[in-house]
Amino acid sequence: MGCLRDKQNSTAYMVKGITDPDLLFQEFRQLMINRGCAFAETDMRAMYNPTRMEVIRQVTHKLVDKINALCPGCIMPGFGVTDAKNGLPCKLCGLPTRSTLSHIYTCTHCAFTNEFFYPYGIKAEDPMYCDNCNP
Ligand SMILES: [Zn+2]
Ligand SMILES: [Zn+2]
Repeated sequence: MGCLRDKQNSTAYMVKGITDPDLLFQEFRQLMINRGCAFAETDMRAMYNPTRMEVIRQVTHKLVDKINALCPGCIMPGFGVTDAKNGLPCKLCGLPTRSTLSHIYTCTHCAFTNEFFYPYGIKAEDPMYCDNCNP
């Protein structure tokens, strides 16, 4: 079960509950062409059959990984994390911490780069890792 967005964490464009890998890939290419960017992820909320959940989760994860490894610029595989930026804001004071804020993806074929925010799914860091709150 896949979910497509124009950007990670964006709700401006979303296609949810895609179960057909070919359709997911097709929608992904279309989004690349129309918006210049696309982000695929597993959509677990739209799971209708809990017994097949684990199987679908694994299949979709593989597919999502594969799709996200395609460069949005030239649609070639080889788009991967080349750099990480620190500065995830602290939950308490809002100051940047040393935790990862974003991952920089760079294509090995063309010069395309993209920044994906909150790669671990957390938007604010615990104050215990904050130099300001917990020096
Ligand atoms: Zn803090
Ligand atoms: Zn490229």
